[in-house]
Amino acid sequence: MTTIKDIYPFADWNPTGERPMLILGPCSAEYEEQLFTTAREIKELGRPFLLRAGIWKPRTRPGSFEGKGEEALQWLASVKEELQIPVTTEVANAEHVELCLKYGVDALWIGARTTVNPFSVQEIADALQGVDIPVFVKNPIHPDMGLWIGALERINRAGVNKLGAIHRGFHYQDNYPYRNLPNWELAIEMKTRLPELPIICDVSHIAGDPEIIPRVAQRAMDLYMDGLLIETHFRPEEALSDARQQVTPTHLSRILENLEIREPSTGDAHFTDEIQRLRARIDNIDESLMELLSERMKVVEEIGFKKKEQNVTIFQLERWLEIMENYMQWGSQLELRDEFIQRFLEALHLESIEIQQQVMNSQLDEDQSKV
Ligand code: PEP
Ligand code: MN
Repeated sequence: MTTIKDIYPFADWNPTGERPMLILGPCSAEYEEQLFTTAREIKELGRPFLLRAGIWKPRTRPGSFEGKGEEALQWLASVKEELQIPVTTEVANAEHVELCLKYGVDALWIGARTTVNPFSVQEIADALQGVDIPVFVKNPIHPDMGLWIGALERINRAGVNKLGAIHRGFHYQDNYPYRNLPNWELAIEMKTRLPELPIICDVSHIAGDPEIIPRVAQRAMDLYMDGLLIETHFRPEEALSDARQQVTPTHLSRILENLEIREPSTGDAHFTDEIQRLRARIDNIDESLMELLSERMKVVEEIGFKKKEQNVTIFQLERWLEIMENYMQWGSQLELRDEFIQRFLEALHLESIEIQQQVMNSQLDEDQSKV
């Protein structure tokens, strides 16, 4: 079970006080003018935001731009002071944390490549002992909820209660059309397990392409995420990292204007009645589905006993191929999406195999318990 004890209500620490909370700014701080101009142009849009800029860049291969280090922290501190904007950057070790605290950085984030490593996360947690600064934890590169929550726990145990998660997508062999696949169900699971924890969607690192940004941002809002991170650069084509995915402040403004910000509920009585009526119908249907599933699995078990008697394998390729073909066809006639039918049938088949496996093993278990 998750042991994160205290998370301050979002509104208490959200430095911008708005939903969606916006984390905007370049992938990396490259030179002082770049950071200032970008921050100023974003500020002119008139929306509160937390300025992001990478100071130390974890790069997959050596030799690419690895960030400007301490020098860039100085620029971040000047932007904060002159433009009155809260600032945030990525930390990957204790030295980064100490430097950020020295330069008055307002919030920190732990990057995807660091979340995967409990030693690094613990080192950061130790450096944060007794410091009250918001910390965001990005999901690890691969879809491992344990590592993501574990990292949050380590930071929380150091006494940090202003915690946030950043959902930046997951790496697979084929991420098309995204840069990192969103696996929205993991963000939903995080919200379900830690309802108080704000989740920011890192739209840029999921999309990897400005064309896809509006769709990803809208999806995040419709899943009631708390904030959006969008990499913004005054001249994206000249960026030293992630040039392809960054947007100009003007482009960003259009994206934000077109977003529909929906609320989780409404005071409209007619709407509430209608939803209740439709949900009652769904509940009825789900009840029947559950009963049918239970009945189906009982038949599966009976077949299991017969296969066992006759020493016949559980998996029957021909039967499985026939089921797939028939139901995929029927499913599409019933206007069910292929992808869903396939996943549904696979889940059904796997569970049936599991049940018959238990039947096959039952004698084995009995025999073993006699030994
Ligand atoms: C970034 O935010 O620029 C970054 C390096 O992201 P991630 O850790 O998600 O790859
Ligand atoms: Mn980036």
